[in-house]
Amino acid sequence: MQKYTDSFDSSGGSAYHCAPMLTSQLPSRVEPYKLAARHERIEGLVALDKLSRLTEEAGAQTGDCHVVLAFGVDAQGRREIRGHLQATLALACRRCLVPMPQQVSSDFLLGMVTDESLAAELPASHEPVLVEKEQLDLLTVVEDELILSLPQVVYHDEADCYVSAEQLVSKTAGAASDTTPATNPFAVLNALKGKK
Ligand SMILES: [Zn+2]
Repeated sequence: MQKYTDSFDSSGGSAYHCAPMLTSQLPSRVEPYKLAARHERIEGLVALDKLSRLTEEAGAQTGDCHVVLAFGVDAQGRREIRGHLQATLALACRRCLVPMPQQVSSDFLLGMVTDESLAAELPASHEPVLVEKEQLDLLTVVEDELILSLPQVVYHDEADCYVSAEQLVSKTAGAASDTTPATNPFAVLNALKGKK
């Protein structure tokens, strides 16, 4: 549903035509200044179950995140990373709380800084990424971007949801009319019992 292929093609570069290795794991640590100087592009997978902060935010996950990172130096001499990621996450439906598959993708532009105080000098288009001792932890970068790209709320289509519209109406009848039915725990529990 996302136009990730198109959006990433536009960044181009000769490295883009290297043979893709979609089954390889993204390296966890890299030397980003060297990669930027050589305008390297790396592509790989990150196992979602390794990302504990993502699990805290979005629940247990399986599968991989597909990541493409193009390192470079811009006209102002800033070392940057143009990135794209895509993953299918299992996110809890806000109405019935049952996880549903949700495709998430993100394009991002990172500016490397050696000190947090330098982050303010980056233009607003760049998210700062801290490089310490010439090393960058790519798993942390990917996890941060994934968390930023999480949708605020997701809902099943009404026909697929474990809480039907009628259940919401009947369980909230008698309560003040326009309370938010999605957060009524009894409606959710009764619906789950009924469907399982
Ligand atoms: Zn639902």
